[in-house]
Amino acid sequence: MIANDQLAQWDRENFFHPSTHLAQFDRGEAPQRIITGGEGSHIIDRDGNRLLDGFAGLYCVNAGYGRKEITEAIAKQADELAYFHSYAGHGTEASITLSKMVMDRAPEGMARVYFGLGGSDANETNIKLVWYYNNIRGLPEKKKIISRWRGYHGSGLMSGSLTGLELFHKKFDLPLSNIVHTEAPFYYRRPEADMSEADFTAYLIRELEALIEREGPETIAAFIGEPVLGTGGIVPPPEGYWEGVQEVLARHDILMIADEVITGFGRLGSMFGSDHYGIKPDLITIAKGLTSAYAPLSGSIVGQRMWDVLCQGTDEHGVFGHGWTYSAHPIGAAAGVANLKLIDELGLVENATTVGAHLRRAMTEAVGDHVNVGEVRGEGMLCAVELTSDRATRASFDPMGSVAPKVVAAMLKRGVIARAMPQADMLGFAPPLCLTTEEADHIAAVTAESLKEVLG
Ligand code: PLP
Repeated sequence: MIANDQLAQWDRENFFHPSTHLAQFDRGEAPQRIITGGEGSHIIDRDGNRLLDGFAGLYCVNAGYGRKEITEAIAKQADELAYFHSYAGHGTEASITLSKMVMDRAPEGMARVYFGLGGSDANETNIKLVWYYNNIRGLPEKKKIISRWRGYHGSGLMSGSLTGLELFHKKFDLPLSNIVHTEAPFYYRRPEADMSEADFTAYLIRELEALIEREGPETIAAFIGEPVLGTGGIVPPPEGYWEGVQEVLARHDILMIADEVITGFGRLGSMFGSDHYGIKPDLITIAKGLTSAYAPLSGSIVGQRMWDVLCQGTDEHGVFGHGWTYSAHPIGAAAGVANLKLIDELGLVENATTVGAHLRRAMTEAVGDHVNVGEVRGEGMLCAVELTSDRATRASFDPMGSVAPKVVAAMLKRGVIARAMPQADMLGFAPPLCLTTEEADHIAAVTAESLKEVLG
């Protein structure tokens, strides 16, 4: 084994880490952590620390760490056939079985699944599918995509443009043209304090309608949204939101893309967030929970009305010119098959409902009365603690985003991983779906101790 000091030095000198302050990391000011193992909801680092992972990696290790059922399926697939492509009708037992398992679980009205590698590339695929669809329908002007401020859809060129967080645009020349953003369905951040939830929903729908009118409905192709806003704040939608949005989209012939990279395969306590909220999507983005991150794999689930037009397109123009070398990679597919079986066998979707509700209850009891806690919210196995410098005015700290990282660091010292959400004063929790009630209580207790340490 390579000595820790040596690895730490190589890390600083060679590794370009994503979403990291590069200069601080170079100078040795930003922390590094070398992970060596994991079991259930815990990870273990090279210094022997055992940490309760309250964020499941990046909301992705849904089945928990160290699952032999998945690692053995990966090893078997690697041994038998590590790779073959899926172009021109090629497949493997794993990729074909996984497509059947995904479609058996998908909401009504979906027709096929295309496999990619991660959530960002799946959203790139989705936008190409939308553009192709409208070109085949003879509507070449209908191309713009509506996304939401605070939405997160990845960090590619198109997916990063769809993302509605300034951090992912600034100095990257994003967003690209053809992307327009509408208001975030974030009730805590409503424009007027005395707005009821229903009033806020009505306001959001009016804003959406006004945006469509301004841009011209004939130019708008699709709307993309996460059933529960994720990286932008772990915010469940206000009452009636999805109903209202879909009514507007239907009236203007606008496709609905449900980005279920976080919510797909159980995180909300339902197989899909679309079922959870009565969304009838034309496209669904899946990744993370599809393999519980044991291997990279994503997907675009295509609805029947789009599938019919894509088929018509290839009759008119020939082979569908879109594919990745690693689409439906056999190792990812084998991981996906084993993972989806395990989710069923262990009842993890039900566990997300019961233990997730327990986590929010425990968190509310532990920190809900703290003077700097604005609200505790979430759905299924998702929880957020909104911090504020003043509960009455819901004001941010100065500067915004300065306090949550300190609380997260205090939690880490106590062996619990939480996430300081970007561009916000907010703690995020998205533990593995196998979390126990005792672990949920521990997360809540450590959050309370750490808040006290940082804010008194
Ligand atoms: N969509 C959503 C809703 C996400 O949360 C993420 C990642 O967090 C992505 C897309 C991008 O996925 P990836 O990081 O795998 O490219």
